[in-house]
Amino acid sequence: MKQVDVIVVGAGQAGCAAAYDLASAGLSVLMLDRHASTGHKPCAGGVTEKARRLYRFPLDSVVRETVSQMQMSLYQKLQTPFTADTPFCLMTHRPELDQLCRQHAQQAGASLTIVRHISGFQSHPDGIVLTVDGEQIGARYLIGADGAHGAVRRLAFGGGARHGAMAIEGLLSREQCSRYPQTTFDFGVVRGGYGWMFPKGDHVNVGLYIRTQSGGKVDRHALADYARQRLGSDALTNVQGFPLGTWGHQQRLAAGRVLLVGDAAGFTEPLLGEGIYGAVLSGQRAAAAILAGHHVAANYITDMDRWRSELRRVHPIAAVFYSTLPLSFGVLKHGARRPLMNGYAKGLTLVQSKRLFFGAHFTQA
Ligand SMILES: Cc1cc2nc3c(=O)[nH]c(=O)nc-3n(C[C@H](O)[C@H](O)[C@H](O)COP(=O)(O)OP(=O)(O)OC[C@H]3O[C@@H](n4cnc5c(N)ncnc54)[C@H](O)[C@@H]3O)c2cc1C
Repeated sequence: MKQVDVIVVGAGQAGCAAAYDLASAGLSVLMLDRHASTGHKPCAGGVTEKARRLYRFPLDSVVRETVSQMQMSLYQKLQTPFTADTPFCLMTHRPELDQLCRQHAQQAGASLTIVRHISGFQSHPDGIVLTVDGEQIGARYLIGADGAHGAVRRLAFGGGARHGAMAIEGLLSREQCSRYPQTTFDFGVVRGGYGWMFPKGDHVNVGLYIRTQSGGKVDRHALADYARQRLGSDALTNVQGFPLGTWGHQQRLAAGRVLLVGDAAGFTEPLLGEGIYGAVLSGQRAAAAILAGHHVAANYITDMDRWRSELRRVHPIAAVFYSTLPLSFGVLKHGARRPLMNGYAKGLTLVQSKRLFFGAHFTQA
């Protein structure tokens, strides 16, 4: 039976972050993914400053726009610029970002195997055994980085993940657009969520986000309507929807020799659906816990405390924000705009940025 130190299921943002650190430290790492090429995962590729700081390598080769000003509106009216003193977000095209991260993980020594079906899981005191396409592979540790539909959670812990949000996106080529927009959030174009336009040079990524608790709905017709209203065309390609895991503060994260990271763990921030930060952070923290080598699951859970506490706080903020929209947008526009954007530009989280007024000092979540 093939044996490695760590199996990482999922070579997305969380899986590659974990694999990179583990392989760089000399462990044998096997990444398993269903897809050889990147581009199957819907994601608008916005990398906030706090997320950018986590990467172990420069992202320059995949940056399509650097954002220090964005437009926000309410019901597509009251368009308002939100500006920071320095950039707060990088626009990448997600397939290119994933490809870069896979390359770095592989250069560090991790291997990647494309698989169809992971059907079995057994654990024993010294490790785990996975059944992959009918073959057994053993490892000392298993990292589930397989996204919001995570198979590892079901196999290892029983029961699926709880999803907190849903988003759908499509790409509109620049020639098809009536104008090339700035980075934009249009709050209230869907109930309990927002529409976005993320410019990427040769195309614009257009999407709709909702918190599932809001009872709102997003589908390809709503997305086409939004694209037509905002950019004069609904000639979208690559239209895909996907759930986001936002309940990481309430869900089981790790036990024994199994650790869940990224969307599989529910680490997406629920106000805006930013998941890349939680994915990279948790991938790196899971790797660090394994490398430390003792009480791995318990140490990983403790290390993620701060981010889980952020999620716990953002859930009620998101509920209030979307249910009192005209009022909350007014507060954002008139009071919180500058500290919020400058907080993001300094690499702070939403809750930390909110507290920026009070002059508190922060450590990384
Ligand atoms: C439409 C949309 C737009 C978004 N835009 C942004 C954004 O602009 N910025 C941001 O920060 N966040 C965004 N997010 C959230 C972000 O995409 C996710 O939080 C992030 O991708 C999570 O990373 P991950 O590595 O945990 O999971 P994923 O990126 O989902 O990667 C999981 C990997 O596991 C593989 N996999 C899944 N199941 C199996 C299996 N059974 N066997 C083997 N492999 C498997 C998949 O092929 C994939 O490669 C968006 C989400 C959506 C849906």
